Amino acid sequence: MADHERVMEKIVSLCKRRGFVYQGSEIYGGLAGTWDYGPLGAELVDNIKNCWWKKFLYDREDIYKINAAILMNPGVWEASGHVSGFADPLASGKLFNTMFKTSAGAGEDAATVYLRPETAGGIFVNFKNVVDSFHPKLPFGIGQIGKAFRNEIAPRDFIFRVRELEQMEIEYFVRPEEWEQKFEEWRRGVHEFMEMVGIAKKSVHELEVLDGERAHYSKRTIDFEFDFPFGRKELCGLAYRTDFDLSAHEKASTVELKYQDPDTNKKFTPHVIEPSFGVERTFLAVLVSAYTEDTLGGETRVYLKFKPSVAPIKAAVFPLLKNKPELVNKAREIYTELKKDIPQIMWDDNGNVGKRYRRQDEIGTPYCITIDFQTLEDNTVTIRDRDTGEQERVSAADLSTTLWKNLKT
Ligand code: ATP
Repeated sequence: MADHERVMEKIVSLCKRRGFVYQGSEIYGGLAGTWDYGPLGAELVDNIKNCWWKKFLYDREDIYKINAAILMNPGVWEASGHVSGFADPLASGKLFNTMFKTSAGAGEDAATVYLRPETAGGIFVNFKNVVDSFHPKLPFGIGQIGKAFRNEIAPRDFIFRVRELEQMEIEYFVRPEEWEQKFEEWRRGVHEFMEMVGIAKKSVHELEVLDGERAHYSKRTIDFEFDFPFGRKELCGLAYRTDFDLSAHEKASTVELKYQDPDTNKKFTPHVIEPSFGVERTFLAVLVSAYTEDTLGGETRVYLKFKPSVAPIKAAVFPLLKNKPELVNKAREIYTELKKDIPQIMWDDNGNVGKRYRRQDEIGTPYCITIDFQTLEDNTVTIRDRDTGEQERVSAADLSTTLWKNLKT
């Protein structure tokens, strides 16, 4: 087995063993292209999404969050070109539309509807609503995180290519003459976000998608590729979509989707820049970037070098011995207090302290806090750093402040 295959196998096995990712419907033999996030995976997903919202919404003022329905009027997907063109070639040469179909309503009234293949559709149909509610000035964006469904012919490579996925997308509306400048800003933003969640910079490569290979509506697309263990593959994309979407939905719905310049009163159709991220591929790139094998104190170990911002558990609290009620009670007290300030805290009293360290390293917990006999005397605890294995003693009274400071740096 090649080294990269071995790494992938180890990551998949760690994900299952430690409760990050399970096969979908596993006890029934699974369902191809579906995966379930376990307790730690679900936290990691939420942390990735929170970083995304922080970077692209809370740290700026020009993005509006929405949460649109997954089932939409089929007209949306006719206008966007998905009904006629969202297809992959089959080995037999026939094109296969990868949208999932279902029906809404009963009996003769049942109508064919599609599970959305991307979240962008929900954003475009709400363009006018957001403009009418908030009167934003150009440029501004509408962002959404949500599920999308693609009936991939061959789902593969763990969570890389799945049939039920989650996307984090922004449609950023600009004046036609400013698209190039804004595209560059988003290009930087994409890299900054990757750094924020701990995706290894050296493994990210931009691929300028050439004329003829881009979607017909796009005048420029960059695929951000990542060196996954199974090859260099698309992680996320940035596309300049011109005014294709708003114009197409305006034409098909007959509802005007224009922007009125508040200074000149002139109406025009904004152009769109779309950074589009997949949660699963971001999750996998974060995991691959974090996966580390090293030697600590003469022992080899595996650990996930997560950035604190995405680590599912920020700190674990241990009583040194679990059969000493005075230690357990004190540790419980400290754990309960800490959890009020930092919710992603874990209680761990299984096995000896060495084993607990190994386990927490393997799930990427940045800090382990041990309550020992000295704690009972002077109210200090040890904090152990995941990456260096070094420990320092700090006052339990300052624990929350110290931890916050450490997690931020
Ligand atoms: P690919 O070429 O790999 O099929 P795509 O170009 O069709 O991807 P987009 O339509 O641009 O992908 O979707 C935006 C993002 O959504 C992708 O960059 C990826 O992160 C994610 N994504 C798309 N399809 C899948 C899938 N089947 N499984 C997991 N993530 C996906």
